Amino acid sequence: MMCDMCGKEAELFKTEIEGTMLNVCETCAKFGTIIEKVKKPVETELKPTTKTIEEEIIDVVVDDFAQKIKNRRERLKLKQEELAKKLNIKESLLHHIESGKFMPSIELAEKIEKFLKIRLIEQYMEQGGRRAPSKPEEVTIGDLIKIKKR
Ligand SMILES: [Zn+2]
Repeated sequence: MMCDMCGKEAELFKTEIEGTMLNVCETCAKFGTIIEKVKKPVETELKPTTKTIEEEIIDVVVDDFAQKIKNRRERLKLKQEELAKKLNIKESLLHHIESGKFMPSIELAEKIEKFLKIRLIEQYMEQGGRRAPSKPEEVTIGDLIKIKKR
């Protein structure tokens, strides 16, 4: 940026000189009253953009849901048929879920969670495509419900 008065390349000051607003260098500014320092356009461009990073908590069904459901069901000595009936889903669907061919919806996973008292849903903080666990492993189902209702 150049001084309006002497043409020198310098830091400029918005200065009122004899009733006129001029962008002048420090030396020339002494002829008038400095109003404010003139910001270089380059500086503003270099300023880091203070964008707010949008964080979204999303529910995901755990990767090993099939194994978890199967193990729990077997421990409870329930047949697929019996568990399916309790969950009000088709036995064939439960079979697909337990073999990992079908990922239950969040709604269904919640139902299974409540019934089997196991953890099938994890919450992830979605941040720029990257996902990281937002809660430690020992979160109870009750806590998860609280978080969901936030
Ligand atoms: Zn000057």
